[in-house]
Amino acid sequence: MKDTTFTLLVYSWIAIAIFIFPLVVKIVAPYGRHTTKKWGALIDNRIGWILMEMPALLVFAGFYLFGSGPKPSVTWVLFSLWVLHYVNRTLIFPFRLRTSGKKMPVAIIFMAIGFNLVNGFINGYYLGTMATLEQYPLGYWMDIRFILGILLFFGGMFINWQSDNILIHLRKPGETSYVIPQKGFFRFVSCPNHFGEIVEWAGFAMIAWCLPALAFFVWTVVNLLPRALHHHKWYKEKFQDYPPERKALFPFFL
Ligand code: NDP
Repeated sequence: MKDTTFTLLVYSWIAIAIFIFPLVVKIVAPYGRHTTKKWGALIDNRIGWILMEMPALLVFAGFYLFGSGPKPSVTWVLFSLWVLHYVNRTLIFPFRLRTSGKKMPVAIIFMAIGFNLVNGFINGYYLGTMATLEQYPLGYWMDIRFILGILLFFGGMFINWQSDNILIHLRKPGETSYVIPQKGFFRFVSCPNHFGEIVEWAGFAMIAWCLPALAFFVWTVVNLLPRALHHHKWYKEKFQDYPPERKALFPFFL
């Protein structure tokens, strides 16, 4: 693929994310607590998660590993970070969920597959084929973008994994009800799992310092900021005693 065609594709992808953002704020994504039959056929929640996330793992890894570029060492670090995240999200997280009997709309799965196919492709192709040794020289390990990016990535991953873990253990096996989470970063925000994920991909984008990684970060915010706002509103409506000082996504801010 020509560099200019690829760049145009990624800019268009970012533009679509910005364009649909107001829609995503308005329309509540119907999975998890917001699931509804109005969106058509439903599928088992656990199977849905595996199907949705698998393309991000396979497409990214395939395009990276079979790419014809020089693969500077930093791109192997980025490859490892992506795989670490998506092995958990695809092959571990769905089996830990306590959502027995719950379903999600097939339409959501198709949308998520599309999202993951494009993000997996642009990032895998870029790092596997287009990234150059001049862009990521050996000294890049000491570059402030690399150091800060790694700290952000693992800080975000810690918050994301810890928060997902807290949520999963709010229920005993077989339970499907909701309670107010009180531990960890839930003291500050309703959705620290989403906050952690945003920080994680901000770190990835900082290390990679390229357009496809920025596009993925923008899309992550466009997905997760509205979801956190919807969850926060839902908590406040459901629980009279919901902590009033708790924010939706960003501690002390929003
Ligand atoms: P949620 O916080 O909605 O749910 C996570 C799990 O915890 C679900 O099994 C949910 O059950 C359960 N749960 C949530 N709140 C409670 C509660 N108060 N009491 C009891 N159980 C609860 O997370 P999401 O489904 O939105 O996301 C899951 C993960 O995927 C997150 O780490 C998120 O960051 C990531 N993600 C990433 C996206 C991206 O664009 N990169 C997009 C979407 C998600 P139930 O399903 O029954 O509600």
